[in-house]
Amino acid sequence: MKKILVTGGAGFIGSHLCERLLNDGNEVICLDNYSSGSKDNIIHLIDNPCFVLVHHDVTMPFSIDVDEIYNLACPASPVQYQCNPVSTIRTSVIGAINMLELAKTTNAKIMQASTSEVYGDPEVHPQPETYWGNVNPIGVRSCYDEGKRCAESLFVNYHKQNNVDIKIVRIFNTYGPNMLPNDGRVVSNFIVQVLQDKPITIYGDGSQTRSFQYVDDLVEGMIRMMNTPDDVTGPVNIGNPNEFSILELAQMVIELTGSKSKIEFREFPEDDPMQRKPDITMAFELLNGWQPKVQLKEGLLNTINYFRRLML
Ligand code: UDP
Repeated sequence: MKKILVTGGAGFIGSHLCERLLNDGNEVICLDNYSSGSKDNIIHLIDNPCFVLVHHDVTMPFSIDVDEIYNLACPASPVQYQCNPVSTIRTSVIGAINMLELAKTTNAKIMQASTSEVYGDPEVHPQPETYWGNVNPIGVRSCYDEGKRCAESLFVNYHKQNNVDIKIVRIFNTYGPNMLPNDGRVVSNFIVQVLQDKPITIYGDGSQTRSFQYVDDLVEGMIRMMNTPDDVTGPVNIGNPNEFSILELAQMVIELTGSKSKIEFREFPEDDPMQRKPDITMAFELLNGWQPKVQLKEGLLNTINYFRRLML
């Protein structure tokens, strides 16, 4: 049995990860400040004697003896991370330092939840890990993009300087149950809008693309990455390479729900990437043939059912 710390454990991805790690027979310490996470996501785990919930902000040092750390704490929806950009940078950068210091002193293995946003508005398509990205350092997304890029730098340098055992995964657009209805990201927005018979809001003309990964596929990839040999540090892309335009996504959500919602076109947000698709060759090779299993339609149906139950 391993003792595992998950920062951001009450968030969308963190809550799925905590549940999976518990099911695998581990002891899980879930740390969250509930800024974009929710107790509702982990309430069903609270009676499990192997689960410990701690209300804490990663920007403050934290001390505990653990075998592994998954550092997920940070708002990830553009709407939310742009609300308080300085706090987003602090969470990424100071949070990473605090967790890396903890890993250093306790000899724990540590994984950083990095992001496809390190590639910015990519000029290389699909994006391999070797691509350095196209990020506007002073744009509205920079608090998240540069915060996460700095965290990656901290991870590789703690590895070099202090021999900390690190793993970096770059997570591409992920969706599924436990996203908050007001999360602000496209999948939850569209589903909540159609379930409320409201118009679907497409930003721009909907020709921009994303590649959507179901959360279970991501969790499987992250756990496999944590279990790789010490010399595998990453970064490794974890995402689903099936690419869709935002207009196609809207049409699929309408079709799957049988909704009569109309589509409304809104202004295209500043610095919004026009295309995104992971090259997952490296993940396939390093993570024992890992590749996403859940097709978009199947994952969307699960997510629609989740929001239907939530909104009853
Ligand atoms: N988007 C949209 N309508 C919405 C929310 C998002 O058209 O209600 C678009 C957004 O402009 C972007 C894409 O959907 O091009 C994905 O946005 P999201 O916020 O989910 O994540 P991102 O990949 O941009 O971080």
